[in-house]
Amino acid sequence: MNKEALKDLTYGVYVISSKKDNRDVGCIANSVMQVTTNTITISINVNNYTNQAIKDTKEFVCMVLPIDVDSNIIGTFGFKSSQDIDKFKDMDTTIIDNYPILNCSVSYIRCKVINTIEVGTHTLFIGEIVSSDKLNNKEVMTYAYYHDIKKGKSPKNAPTYQEEKIETGKKKYRCKICGYIFEVDELPDDYVCPICGVTRDMFEEI
Ligand code: FE
Repeated sequence: MNKEALKDLTYGVYVISSKKDNRDVGCIANSVMQVTTNTITISINVNNYTNQAIKDTKEFVCMVLPIDVDSNIIGTFGFKSSQDIDKFKDMDTTIIDNYPILNCSVSYIRCKVINTIEVGTHTLFIGEIVSSDKLNNKEVMTYAYYHDIKKGKSPKNAPTYQEEKIETGKKKYRCKICGYIFEVDELPDDYVCPICGVTRDMFEEI
């Protein structure tokens, strides 16, 4: 198996939300696809708090992120757990049908789960669309853009996660929150992680 072949598959970048114990929870996903005219499927790691939330409520919302998404949204939804924090607390949202929708979203799709398939590390949730809307005409973020232009990483729980190997002569600093690796002679004091937004003190030399 040559894992490079899998990198040729195309994806978007989404926030998938649901509810757990009357709390709004959510995580980043890149594996979302339309199945029929009124169904989509999403792939969520079994260890994600959002996975159990979707199983409990049998509902999820898929928010399509724009190309200029704030790195704080990637950092919060992609690299932290809803078990530990309220991810929506300081986010700019509008409540639609009892779910907070990130105002930066290009569009959202709300679904009720009609089938689930366990595939080892991930659950495929097949959702029938209950409601959906387009919120603006911004360009949508593709996973390739996130990876190549923003130098974004897959969290370890993502289906697309692969170990990274980088070789240059410079020092390497790794963000302890999101795993972003920055190669530079010396990390500037005012450096901020371009992926998750944390400050220099959260970087370690590797
Ligand atoms: Fe980071």
